[in-house]
Amino acid sequence: METFEALLEESTRVHGHICAGQVIGVRMSMLALRLLGLNDPKGKDRKKLYTIVEIDRCATDAIQSVTGCTLGKRSMKHVDHGVMAATFVNLETQQAVRVTALEESRTLSKKYCGSITDKYARQLEAYKIMPEEELFKVENVRVNVPEENLPGRPLSRVVCAKCGDWIQDRREVEREGAVLCRGCAGDKYYTVIDERDGR
Ligand SMILES: [Zn+2]
Ligand SMILES: [Zn+2]
Repeated sequence: METFEALLEESTRVHGHICAGQVIGVRMSMLALRLLGLNDPKGKDRKKLYTIVEIDRCATDAIQSVTGCTLGKRSMKHVDHGVMAATFVNLETQQAVRVTALEESRTLSKKYCGSITDKYARQLEAYKIMPEEELFKVENVRVNVPEENLPGRPLSRVVCAKCGDWIQDRREVEREGAVLCRGCAGDKYYTVIDERDGR
């Protein structure tokens, strides 16, 4: 496992700036990897790790940077819960830990870096040195990762009866006997203005 400093430097580069979220994300990942016994997540252990992040904020980029798990590789899943927490799964052993950043750590940062008056700067520096117990809650959990969520070739490809888009990995829904994409089934996040021909 690389050092905290090296991992933080890398995540800062990937994320584009240094912030408290990078420190939290790097430390959270290091803690989880240690507990799961995976010390080479981007090398020999790369097919063993699966992460589920509960928030789309700064720390998520750090988790991606340290673990090598990404949305595109399907080794990272985002569940939109808005909680600064992530679950790390060892797919080989099924051991899983959920790590949550503790709200109290914000206040506790004064104990470590009280001389820094700017709140954000103080938290950033304090999070580098605070003990894990004061930063995180850790739970042993069980996660069922459905096979259609795992990396690898798509398990299915079907066409939407309404719009003609192709749907992979069992995300289709059935409505009155018709196979539909989720958008056509009512879960559309956009409104078509017109279809462009030509570019
Ligand atoms: Zn950030
Ligand atoms: Zn459709």
